[in-house]
Amino acid sequence: MTATSEIMIRNARLFDGTGAAAVVRDLSVADGIITAIGRDLPGTAAQEMDGSGLALAPGFIDVHTHDDAMVLQPGGMEPKLSQGVTSVVTGNCGICLAPGLPEGASVPTPPLDLLGDAAAFRFPEFGDFIDALHGSGPEVNVFPLVGQTLLRLRAMDRPGRPATAAEVERMREDLARAIAGGAAGLSTGLAYPPARFASTDEILALARDVAAAGLLWTTHMRDERSGVVSAVAETLDIARRSGVRTLISHHKCCSQAAFGLSRTTLAMIEEARKELSVGLDLYPYTASSTVLLPTFARDSTKVTVTWSDPHPEMEGRDLKDIAAEWGVSQDEALERLKPGGAIYHQMDEGDLRRIMAYPPTLIGSDGLPQDRRPHPRLWGTFPRVLGHFARDEAVLPLETAIAKMTGQTAALLGLKDRGLLKPGCKADLVLFDPEQVIDRASYAEPTLPPAGIRQVWVNGAPVVEDGAYRPGRPGAGTVIGGCRAAA
Ligand SMILES: [Zn+2]
Repeated sequence: MTATSEIMIRNARLFDGTGAAAVVRDLSVADGIITAIGRDLPGTAAQEMDGSGLALAPGFIDVHTHDDAMVLQPGGMEPKLSQGVTSVVTGNCGICLAPGLPEGASVPTPPLDLLGDAAAFRFPEFGDFIDALHGSGPEVNVFPLVGQTLLRLRAMDRPGRPATAAEVERMREDLARAIAGGAAGLSTGLAYPPARFASTDEILALARDVAAAGLLWTTHMRDERSGVVSAVAETLDIARRSGVRTLISHHKCCSQAAFGLSRTTLAMIEEARKELSVGLDLYPYTASSTVLLPTFARDSTKVTVTWSDPHPEMEGRDLKDIAAEWGVSQDEALERLKPGGAIYHQMDEGDLRRIMAYPPTLIGSDGLPQDRRPHPRLWGTFPRVLGHFARDEAVLPLETAIAKMTGQTAALLGLKDRGLLKPGCKADLVLFDPEQVIDRASYAEPTLPPAGIRQVWVNGAPVVEDGAYRPGRPGAGTVIGGCRAAA
């Protein structure tokens, strides 16, 4: 008998990514494209799979990552592929690897250093980063954003103040070159210095250029603590005045004074969505993670060090214990540990669940792959939503959870041929056991792969087989979403 397609998955519970309830169907793939979906599809395939009792979904899209360096590493994407993630949005929170560091800078200014050391920032132009991606053959599909913090540092000699008109012009020129080089949008990280010194007008000028190019703006807002309501207001103001497609990154309410404010922020977003294209995403944990920042530490019930260049022996330990051991204040201990990063326990589960259940909310990991003891969100986000929050806690139906990782995400990113199971779409697929799927990565053991993810394909190429990541599949993924000028 001749094979009529490369992959045939039979009798799986098919979640098509739209949020519709599952139906039992067969699905076939040829040349990296879904060719047919139906009952008892005729023909055979080189790879025949029995999907009975398993869920088949579009490959998950991690809408918020810092995988800029990891996507360039051969075999580097295990943390994502093992979760069923087949596409990642890089360059979030204002930070990215290209264009290069400002002239004369020998080390990346925090928070750029979340992505790596100076050697990682080796691309003079954004297009060089895209060329390197094509050259290395990424294991996943990459939707690359350019970060405003890097553009700002390149444009300003003293970035601890609002930019002048001439400096904003320099950022706009850099942005235009990055877009021509293949950037799929712009990100900002206004909570951190040096970007937090940017005025609303500085961001608005850049947002207008992004809107004119038809691209996406993602923003780590200026305040995610007691000022989160005014930060949402600023974001919506920029979205309204620029017309830019907007995504609020990792929406959360940190510190006790902010607990419950998600009721207000979600109502504001809901109202704005009547006339604007505004989305939001979330990671499913009540602890955040970033570089060492005293304001974050003061608002947290517990702070765990994820990396420290001067004191690597303190990685994985609590700041309070380190301070006691050194006989200094927590602020002083934090200063001594710099440069470094931490996990901050500072959110309320009620806000987390409310934001997760809000229909427009997408799922993004915000994982930090360069951290030596990373936040477990890097390895656990997607199975945690599916297994813990959808199945065990019933915070949302499974088909809704899947749509927040697939079809809804693709719609926000403007991807027409991903995120859905339908003939003609790219064969980014994940086959998983809905009874077994669960995250195993924890704060104590942050790099454990999840359980229950059986098979993953990127553009039809198998990258996880029988629950095990298969390294060495370069070129399975591709660069998506930009509008690169013809060379
Ligand atoms: Zn962020």
